[in-house]
Amino acid sequence: MNILKFGGSSVATPERIKLVAACIQKHLKEDTTIAVFSAFGGVTDDLILMALLASREDLTYKEILQKNETRHLEAIKELIPVNAQSGILSRIKTEFNRLETLYEGVYLLNELSNRTRNMVAGFGEILSSLIIAEYFKSLEIDALSVDSRELIICKNTNDKIQVNYTKTNTNIERFFAENRSELYVVPGFIAKNDEGVPSTLGRGGSDFTAAILAAALNVPRLYIYTDVNGMYTANPRIVPQAYPLKHVSYEEAMELSHFGAKVIYPPTLQPLLEKQIEILVKNSFKLEEEGTLISKSGKHNFRWVTGITHIDNISLVNIEGSGMIGISGFSKRFFEVMHQENINVVLITQASSEHSICIAVKDDEAQAAKVALDEAFEAEIRNKKINPIQIEDDVAIIALVGDRMKSHHGLSGKLFSALGNNNINIRAIAQGSSERNISAVIAKKDVTKALNTLHETFFEVPSKELNLFITGVGNVGGKLIEQLKRQETYLLEKLRLKVRILGMSNSRKMIFDENGIDLENWKNLLEDGEETSQDAFFEKVKELNFRNSVFVDNTASPVIAATYKNYLANSISVVTCNKIACADDFSNYEKLMNLSREYGASFLYETNVGAGLPIIDTLKNLVDSGDRIQKIQAVLSGSLNFVFNNYKGEEPFYKIVEEAMKEGYTEPDPKIDLSGIDVARKILILSRVSGLEMELDEIEKDNFLSEESLNTKTNEKFFDLLEKDEPQFKELYQSAAQNKAQLKYVAQLENGKAKVGLQQVGLEHPFYNLNGSDNIVLFFTDRYSVQPLIVKGAGAGADVTASGIFADIIRIGKK
Ligand code: ADP
Ligand code: ASP
Ligand code: MG
Repeated sequence: MNILKFGGSSVATPERIKLVAACIQKHLKEDTTIAVFSAFGGVTDDLILMALLASREDLTYKEILQKNETRHLEAIKELIPVNAQSGILSRIKTEFNRLETLYEGVYLLNELSNRTRNMVAGFGEILSSLIIAEYFKSLEIDALSVDSRELIICKNTNDKIQVNYTKTNTNIERFFAENRSELYVVPGFIAKNDEGVPSTLGRGGSDFTAAILAAALNVPRLYIYTDVNGMYTANPRIVPQAYPLKHVSYEEAMELSHFGAKVIYPPTLQPLLEKQIEILVKNSFKLEEEGTLISKSGKHNFRWVTGITHIDNISLVNIEGSGMIGISGFSKRFFEVMHQENINVVLITQASSEHSICIAVKDDEAQAAKVALDEAFEAEIRNKKINPIQIEDDVAIIALVGDRMKSHHGLSGKLFSALGNNNINIRAIAQGSSERNISAVIAKKDVTKALNTLHETFFEVPSKELNLFITGVGNVGGKLIEQLKRQETYLLEKLRLKVRILGMSNSRKMIFDENGIDLENWKNLLEDGEETSQDAFFEKVKELNFRNSVFVDNTASPVIAATYKNYLANSISVVTCNKIACADDFSNYEKLMNLSREYGASFLYETNVGAGLPIIDTLKNLVDSGDRIQKIQAVLSGSLNFVFNNYKGEEPFYKIVEEAMKEGYTEPDPKIDLSGIDVARKILILSRVSGLEMELDEIEKDNFLSEESLNTKTNEKFFDLLEKDEPQFKELYQSAAQNKAQLKYVAQLENGKAKVGLQQVGLEHPFYNLNGSDNIVLFFTDRYSVQPLIVKGAGAGADVTASGIFADIIRIGKK
C-alpha cells in the first residue's frame, strides 16, 4: 500500500491537480494507494477568517464565502467532464449551504467557540477531496472517497491535539480490511472527538493524517508531496541559497519542524518514529528530484549543522527582581501558571544569577501570560520582590539544528559572531538539553538577514584564500597585478577564490602586508619598502605562514630560480614564467618535481613555453591520459617570429630587433632569443614534460648569428654587431624570398632528439602564415597521428604572459 499526502500548495489550482494526478498514476502502477489531500491552498485561512469576521458582525465574510464557492465550482468545471458534473456540483453547493448556515449562527450569536472554529476549518479538506475523487473517477481510476472523520478520533483543546490511537487504529484497520479500491481519496486535517463532534488535527495537520494512516497500516514509507524539493537547509523562500537535504534523522526533522520548517507538521513524526516508518518529502511537480528522506539516522549528513529555521510572531515574557532567589519554588509556580493557562512555552532562558527568567511564547498568548503571571505573583510584586511582568513583542526565534552539533564546540560562538558582525542583536539564547539545537531570540525585522547570514556561515562553501608573494613587478608582473585587481570580484563571486597579494618585490625593494597589499597604491608602497634580499623574502613568506601561499616569479633571474626549492620544501607553491629552473640540469629539474610531489605544493610553469597558450597543460594532459608523443614541431619564439615577419631586407635587422625589445617580445637580453637558446630551452622543457630525460647541450642548434655577436657582453655591443652583419641578414631574406618561402625559427622533437634552427617554410606548411609574435605547436601523437593537435596564438607579450601566470594561480586555487 502506498500512502501519499498532497498539501494545499499541490492542489491550489486545477492545473496543479492535473499534475498531481500524473504523480498518483505513477504510484498506482506499483500498488494500491491512499492519497491524503489538504484543502485547496489558502482555503483553510479563509474559512477561519470568515468565522472571525462573522463573530465580529463583519458581513464581508459573505464576499469571501462567495469567492470560495466560485473557486470550487470553477475547479469542477475545469477538471470534470460536463456530463459527470451535476452530482458533484450539487454536493459542493450543499456543503457551502451548510457553511453559510454555520457562519450565520456565528454572526447572530457574535460568538466563536473553539468547537465551531474547528468545525468550519475542516470544510476545505471535505470540499477538495470530494472534487479530486470525482476527477480521478473521470480518469477511470477506481477511486473511493473516505471520510477521515469516521476514522481518526482525537481530543482537541486549544490547539493541543491528542489522538486516541486505540480507537483510531481499530477504525483504520477495519475500514481498509472491509473496503477495496485502487485509490482511496482521504481528506487530511479533519477528525472527530470522542463525542462525535467534528474537529481538526491543528494547522498543517494533513501531514499528521497521513502519518496516522501510515502507522496504523504499518507501511514502510510515507510520501509527503509538497511545492519544494524536500526539506531544505533553510526556508528556500527566505534563503535563496538553501538546498534540499538528502537525509535527516527523525529527531532533526522534529527540531527543524518545531522551529518553523513548515514543510512538515511537527506531530507528524510521533506515530512514525515508533514504527520507524520513513518519510520521503518530494516535490509534486518535479518528480525527478530526489527529495529528502527522513529516517532513523541521518548518517549521510556530514555537517555539524543540518538546518536553520525560524519562528515568527514570538513575544518574550520576562520576569525579574532581586527577591526572586528567596521565593521558594519560584520556577515551579511560574511554569504551573503557564500550564494552567495552556500556554505553550517555546523557549526558556534563566540567568545564572536566578534574578530573571525569560520565556518565549506565541505572540497571541503573551497578554494572557502576563495577566495570569501578574495575578499569581501579585503579593511578590506588591512587596517589590519582583517587578511586574514585562512583555517584548515583535521578536522571532532562529535555531540551528543538527544531530552532530553536540560533538562540536564553538558553534554558538560562531553563531554569535556571525550575527554580531552583521549588527544583529541577540535578545536571548538557549540550547536544548539534547544539544540538537541552539536557538536565539532576535528582532523580527532581522530574520531574513540573520537566516541568510547563518546560512552563509554554516552551509555555503567558504571562499578559498590564495596568498600570493610576487617577485618581479615590471612588465609582466605589473600586468599580472592589474589583471588580479580587475578580476578580484569575479574570482570571489564565481570561483569563491579570495586572491590577495601579501608580498611583492623588485630588484631593489620589497614589501609585505599580511592583510593584503593595497593594489590601488602598490607602486608607492613598494618604493617605500625595504631593500630586497631573496633570502629575506623567502624567510618572511615562511614566517607569515599563511595557508595557500604561492610564490610567483615574473623574472628571468637565475638567482630567483635557485630559491624555488626552499619554497616547495615548505609547502609553498611556485608559479613561474622564468624558464631557468625547468631548463636547468635534469637532476635539478627532477628535484623540483619531487619536492612538489612530496610537500603537496604545486609547481606550475605554463608560461615557460608560448606565454599564455595552453601548451604545457595540453602536453601534460596527453601524456597523463596515456598518449605517446611521436613528434613535436613548433615555432616557439614570439620574438624571432616578430623579427622575421617584419624584416623585409629594407629596414635594418637590428632596428627590428630593437622594436621587438621595446614591445616586450624579447628577454631583457635579446641575445637569448636571437641565439636560439630560448627556443632550445623551450623544446627542452617540452621534451621533459613528454617524459624524456634530456639536457640542454643535447639539443642541436643551428645559429644564424655570427660567433662574435653571440659573445658580446652588452646589448649595445650586440646591436652594433647586428648592424655590421646586415648584409648577411639581407642574404638570408632574399634567398627565402626567391624560394617563395618564409623564414621561421623552428624547434623539433622526434625520436627522442631535439633540434632548433632557422628554416625556409613553404606556402603549404602550417607555419607559413604565422603572424606577428604568434607561436604554433604541432603535436603528432599516437592519437593525433595523421592530423596533429595544434595550439596556435599569441606567444609573447606581457599581457598574455601575465594571463598565463594568472591561469596557473587559478589552477592552484581550484585544487
Ligand atoms: P503543503 O501545502 O505541501 O503542506 P506547506 O506550505 O505546509 O506545504 O510547506 C511547504 C513550505 O514550507 C515551502 O513552500 C517553504 O516555503 C516552507 N519551508 C519552511 N522551511 C522550510 C525548509 N526548511 N525546507 C523546505 N520548506 C520549508
Ligand atoms: N488545510 C490545513 C491547513 O491549512 C491542513 C493542511 O494543509 O495540512 O492548515
Ligand atoms: Mg503543510
